[in-house]
Amino acid sequence: MNNFYSHLDLPSEEIISSCIHCGMCLQSCPTYNLTFDELSSPRGRIRLIKYVAEGKLQLTEKFAYEMNFCLDCQACETACPAGVKYGSLVEAARVQVEHSEYTSSLSRLIKKVAFRKILPNFKYLKLFAKLLRFYQNSLIGKFAAKILRVISKKLYEVNRLAPRVSSFFTDEIFPEKIQPLNEKKFTVLFPVGCLMNVMFAEENKDTIELLTKLGCEVIIPKKQTCCGSLPAHNGDLEQARKLAKATLESFKEYDFDFVISNSAGCGAFMKEYKHILKDDKEYSSLAKKFSDKVKDITEFLYQNYDFTQFKSEEPLDITYHEPCHLVHTQKVSNEPKLILLQIQNLNLIPLNEATWCCGSAGIYNVVNYEPALKILERKMNNIKNTNAKIVLTGNPGCLGQIRYGKEIFNMNVEVLHPVTLLNRIIKSGDLK
Ligand code: SF4
Ligand code: SF4
Repeated sequence: MNNFYSHLDLPSEEIISSCIHCGMCLQSCPTYNLTFDELSSPRGRIRLIKYVAEGKLQLTEKFAYEMNFCLDCQACETACPAGVKYGSLVEAARVQVEHSEYTSSLSRLIKKVAFRKILPNFKYLKLFAKLLRFYQNSLIGKFAAKILRVISKKLYEVNRLAPRVSSFFTDEIFPEKIQPLNEKKFTVLFPVGCLMNVMFAEENKDTIELLTKLGCEVIIPKKQTCCGSLPAHNGDLEQARKLAKATLESFKEYDFDFVISNSAGCGAFMKEYKHILKDDKEYSSLAKKFSDKVKDITEFLYQNYDFTQFKSEEPLDITYHEPCHLVHTQKVSNEPKLILLQIQNLNLIPLNEATWCCGSAGIYNVVNYEPALKILERKMNNIKNTNAKIVLTGNPGCLGQIRYGKEIFNMNVEVLHPVTLLNRIIKSGDLK
C-alpha cells in the first residue's frame, strides 16, 4: 500500500474497513448538519482517510480542513450500527495533519509550547495561570478587551471565551491525603487535572468535599501532571503517551479503590490508557490495572450510593447537558440523571438534543470559532426551552462554553457541575 501518511501513528486499517458506508451516522453529526456536505460527515471523512491510506488521494488542504473541522465529539460512534471506532481514526488522522505542510509552523509551535511545556509542568502552568488571572482582573485586561472589540470581533470573543482563572488552585489548599468525614468506605485517588486545577478549582473543591462527606478518603497524588487528554485529541499522540506514563508513575505508589475524575475528557482518556499502551512491555499491565479503576464521579456515585435520602431545601427546576466524552466515549449517560432523579425536590427537565455537542470540544471553540458558535446557539436554544433555572454538565470545556453562551445570549440560567449541586444539597453528617 502506497499511502500518503508520513507519521508513525497511522489510522488503523481495521477500523477503516469496519465502516460499511450505511450513512446511519450522518444525522447525528453536528458538522454535517451545518454544511450537508458529505465530506464533513463521518462517512465522508472515513473515505478521505481511506483514500489517503491507499495512495488514491494526496493529503490535501481539504483533507486537513475536514479533520480539524470535525469536533471529535464521537456522536457518530454512538449512532454507528457497525461499531466503527471513529474517534481513534480521526485522532490518528490529525497526527498526520500535524506533520504535514497544512499545519503552520506557528500553530505547531503554540501547541508544542502548550502541550509539551506548560500543561505537563504544574510550576509553569500555575505561573501562566497567575499571569492570566492578573490580566483578567486588571484594568489592562479591561482595556485590552475594549481595543479588541474595535479591531477584531473574533479576537474579542475568543478573549471572552477563555474561562476565568480561579482565585485559588486546588493542589495548594488541600493536603495530599484528606480524611473522610464519616466512617471510611473507600480510598479514592483524585487527579486535580491541569486546567481543572487552575480554572475550575471551585468544582474540584466541591468534588473533594462531596467525596469526604460520603465516607471517602481522598488522595491527591503529589507528583501529578496533565493526563494527556488534550494533546491526544489534538494530534500529539506521542506526547499523550508520554504523559500517560508519567501519570501512571506518579500514581503507582498509592493503594486505592478507584480513580475519580470530574472531567469527562480526562476520565475518557485515562480509561484509554490500557488501549494506547497495550503494546508497551513496561506499562501495559499497570495501564490496564489503572484504567479499570477509573470512574467518572457520577458513575462512581451512582454505583455506590443511594441518593433517595437527600432533599434539596427548595424545589429546583434543573436540566442536564451530556458531555460528549461522557456519553459517547465513556457511555456514561443514565448515571448522572438517575442520581438527580433520586433526590427529593429536584425536577429534572429533559433537554432536547442533550447528547448533541455544545461546540466546546477541547480547543475547537477557539480555532473554529464560527461553527462552534452556531453549534452553541442550537444548544442554548434547547436549554432556554426547558425553562430550567440550572443546567448541569460534568466537563470543564462544556461548563466554559455554556457559561459563555449564557453571557452572549443573555440567559438567566446557572451553569453548574453536578458535584456542585450535590455538594450544596448533601450536608456533612447526612449519610445514613
Ligand atoms: S461510520 Fe458507521 S454509521 Fe457511519 S457510515 Fe460507517 S458504518 Fe455506517
Ligand atoms: S466526531 Fe462528531 S463532528 Fe466528527 S464526524 Fe463524528 S459526529 Fe461528526
